[in-house]
Amino acid sequence: MWITLDFRLDLGQNAGTFALKKPKLDKRELWEKIVNDLRATVARAKILTWFKATAVIGKSEDSITIGVPTAMAELQLSQKFNTEITNSAQKIDPKIKTVAYRVDPSLEFKGDARAIDFDFLKGEDGLKKRKMPKQAEVKIGDFRSVQIDKRYTLENFVVGPDNRLAHAAASAVANEPGKNYNPLFIYGGVGMGKTHLLQGIGNAIERRNNNLVVIYQTSEMFTNELIKTIREHKADHFKDKYRKADVLLIDDVQFFVKKERTQEEFFHTFNALYMAGKQIVLTADRPPKELAGLDDRLISRFEQGMVVDVQFPDFETRLAILHEKCHERGMIIPPEVLEFIAENVSESVRELEGVLVQAIAESELEKSTPTIRSVMKHLKKTNRKKPIIGIEDDVNFEPVKNLDDLVKRVAEFFEVSVEDIKSPSRKAKIANPRQMAIYLAREKMGYTLEEIGEYFGGRDHTTILHSVRKVEKQKENDKRYLRNFNALKKEIRL
Ligand code: ADP
Ligand code: MG
Repeated sequence: MWITLDFRLDLGQNAGTFALKKPKLDKRELWEKIVNDLRATVARAKILTWFKATAVIGKSEDSITIGVPTAMAELQLSQKFNTEITNSAQKIDPKIKTVAYRVDPSLEFKGDARAIDFDFLKGEDGLKKRKMPKQAEVKIGDFRSVQIDKRYTLENFVVGPDNRLAHAAASAVANEPGKNYNPLFIYGGVGMGKTHLLQGIGNAIERRNNNLVVIYQTSEMFTNELIKTIREHKADHFKDKYRKADVLLIDDVQFFVKKERTQEEFFHTFNALYMAGKQIVLTADRPPKELAGLDDRLISRFEQGMVVDVQFPDFETRLAILHEKCHERGMIIPPEVLEFIAENVSESVRELEGVLVQAIAESELEKSTPTIRSVMKHLKKTNRKKPIIGIEDDVNFEPVKNLDDLVKRVAEFFEVSVEDIKSPSRKAKIANPRQMAIYLAREKMGYTLEEIGEYFGGRDHTTILHSVRKVEKQKENDKRYLRNFNALKKEIRL
């Protein structure tokens, strides 16, 4: 489309002459085309995760600079996808030789017109959220790609002592479906990672692209589908579909309890696949024996392979999961906040993730970094019985009293010493907190420039004023700075 020729008056070096030119792609169009091309080589989930809010922010004759919102995204793009990005860029514009990456936090904010918008990738396999097609209309080919969530992989499942066996069994099954443990039966409480493992198996097999038919289905949908096909006198279609599977992944089989017709049908499907050496993996919230209301013959089938459980992970594993989830989202959260969440959430991994997501969302809304206190406030709302551990009672949760108190708490917040803050050091790590303290003393606590100057080792008032202005400017220009500033303000109740 952009190859149409146009005449334009070139007022550059050739002023006064008409030049015949191919219109150039603007930066945004260029980046959209590159990312579109990348879809052939980079997984959809990775594009969604790491290319969100990115833009071409600089371009010269033979190079482009990609702006990314976080340091984590920069690392990913430059380390993991640089080759693919460079190749795609050269395809779109052969003059491009090199690609550089730069962090620009303001890209993260919605409405930054430079940043990529995945809406341009509409269409069947576009990056927009996919609607679930009605089950009965789905062919097996589409069926699996629609159902399995590509984000759940065996690689990003964090392994700890409480789920190691389940993960190892899942990996063995994914490596050689039908050979190792058949069926594999994974059980555990809500939000422990059963679905993640199950879909991880499916993704691993599909990624290897060996044309095996992988079917993932929840027991509930299996039942609904069966009822529908019976009603429409198409029970044969149903049989055919499931018997085409090389790998059958059935989630939450406790749902089969007391559903006799479903059990009957599933029993035949199970046997047919099993006899043909196809892999079957099942999950449930209880071990097979405890599935009261399930036919004994099914229970004994479920037990004949390998039965493993996933339990609530220990502290270290929970912390590792939080780090993994932050990483996947390209978010940087202070480690002590993650530790606080890991320590206090003790119900399910899903809740763990929920608290994290909430913390991220809240802080985006308030444009501040999540703090232990902001997370604590959220935890208190989720009527929990256990006391919150990790911080002392609200001792430090009072408004700042005076300059000494202010400097002490600013120092604590930024993990520097009071002496540092009062020192003349110009290192950003120290100068930034000092300037913020000065700003707050002046603007929020009403101290005069002279008073502040005297407190900070006899500086004159123009130096103090300079600090105040500096903070104002940085708050405006640097979103990350603003977040830290807002988090500090909240923390010290100013
Ligand atoms: P279940 O099916 O057991 O109820 P899910 O598999 O849906 O639980 O897990 C809930 C959430 O917790 C998912 O987002 C999943 O990715 C996450 N999760 C659970 N366990 C782990 C783990 N060990 N590593 C990474 N993420 C996990
Ligand atoms: Mg589940």
